[in-house]
Amino acid sequence: MSDKSDPRIETYRQAALAMESGDFTVELPTASDDDIGALGDALQRLGLAVERKFHELHRLREVTEHISSGVLLDEVCDHVYDAFSELIPYDRIGLALLDSDGRMLRARWARSELGDLSLGIGYAAPMAGSSLQTILDTGEPRILNDLPRYLAENPHSDSSRLIVEEGIRSSLTCPLLSQGRPIGFLFFSSAELSAYADEHVDLFMSIAGHLATVVEKGRLYNELLQLNELRNRFLGMAAHDMRSPLMVIRTYAELLLEDVGVDLPETAREMLQPIHRASEQMIVLVNDLLDASLVESGHLELDLRSLDLVEHLRGALPTLQLMGRARGVEVRLEVLAQEARVDADPHRLDQTLQNLVGNAVKYSEPGQPVVIEVREAGGRFLVSVIDTGCGIVEEDLPVLFAPFGRGARVDSNQPSTGLGLAITRRLVEAHGGTLWVESRFGEGSTFRFDLPAR
Ligand code: ADP
Repeated sequence: MSDKSDPRIETYRQAALAMESGDFTVELPTASDDDIGALGDALQRLGLAVERKFHELHRLREVTEHISSGVLLDEVCDHVYDAFSELIPYDRIGLALLDSDGRMLRARWARSELGDLSLGIGYAAPMAGSSLQTILDTGEPRILNDLPRYLAENPHSDSSRLIVEEGIRSSLTCPLLSQGRPIGFLFFSSAELSAYADEHVDLFMSIAGHLATVVEKGRLYNELLQLNELRNRFLGMAAHDMRSPLMVIRTYAELLLEDVGVDLPETAREMLQPIHRASEQMIVLVNDLLDASLVESGHLELDLRSLDLVEHLRGALPTLQLMGRARGVEVRLEVLAQEARVDADPHRLDQTLQNLVGNAVKYSEPGQPVVIEVREAGGRFLVSVIDTGCGIVEEDLPVLFAPFGRGARVDSNQPSTGLGLAITRRLVEAHGGTLWVESRFGEGSTFRFDLPAR
């Protein structure tokens, strides 16, 4: 730098360096009317504009993060209202959504600084003949900077009358678009005349874009819930209607196989056996489907009773041992608690035990025992079903509890739906407990569930 250079240049250089490191608030010497002074002015304006943009982007990012965290539309709207009040002018924000056929527009959310809302939530108006249609047709926002005059020129506009009644004088209306399709409007309004200028439009449109995402997410979520409910109802009905005829097939096949005075040729008997087996497998499947739809729909009702787990397990043991006997697997009970009083539905508890022991037996070889253990653990009771069978490969562990989740090792001779553990986990959870597995491939598996002590 030469001695003769203007000292303001060094000030500007310092200011530019400060801006580079994020400080946009540097005060520059007051304007003078030479070229260097004009440069200083421009630099100061640039600083202010960048600072403003920086704040806008920061707020937008905050809103985006808020939206991604999956919060509800009302909450996001409130957040937007609070986040932008220092950056852009408004005394009121309103959100209105189009009905699915696009004919009616309904006010969905609104908040104002000016007191009671005349144009309140639920207010509905037909789109036919509305000036808002132009905004949809062009996809461009509309600025009305003198609403009283607009109302004088359009005396039949009901919504303008109501909003002017609230004290609003100017407005900026953005279309809400989801994948190019109009779904509603976002209204920013101010009590000042001429509050809005074209420079605001980009930011308003960005906010509208984010809100459209939330609206769309909410709509898809509701649709998904409805579809899920429909699927559950359908599954439940189909399974229910299939059960009775299947029971008839199984019962008659059983009777014929049991020699009830009917002389059957050997070939007929051989053909009956697969019919009997298939009907049994289908009954297991249908029962699982019924249970899964019941559990999924949230209509599962527990008949809770105060019972002693130890006593209950002793009572259930003969049935569980019978399940093992067919495969040459011994089922033992090891009690490591005096008494284990819990609130449980005895029928659902049996179902849980039968599923876990049934699996343990199914995935063990003859001679490998299955141990049911009950113990106390930190104010809860822990039931473990331990086998030394084939075990589970690590990659399969995460899917076992998902509906239809089946491991690599499935015994094709046994009825298997992949629903058992999904249902069992929900049953345990409905009791306030947790079900989990510890297993090593080739060494066996331990399925444990805990229940809160009474
Ligand atoms: P299903 O037994 O009808 O296939 P489940 O939901 O009861 O369905 O079990 C899911 C899968 O978990 C089974 O297909 C099997 O691969 C695995 N599994 C469950 N219990 C055991 C066990 N004790 N040992 C090894 N694998 C098991």
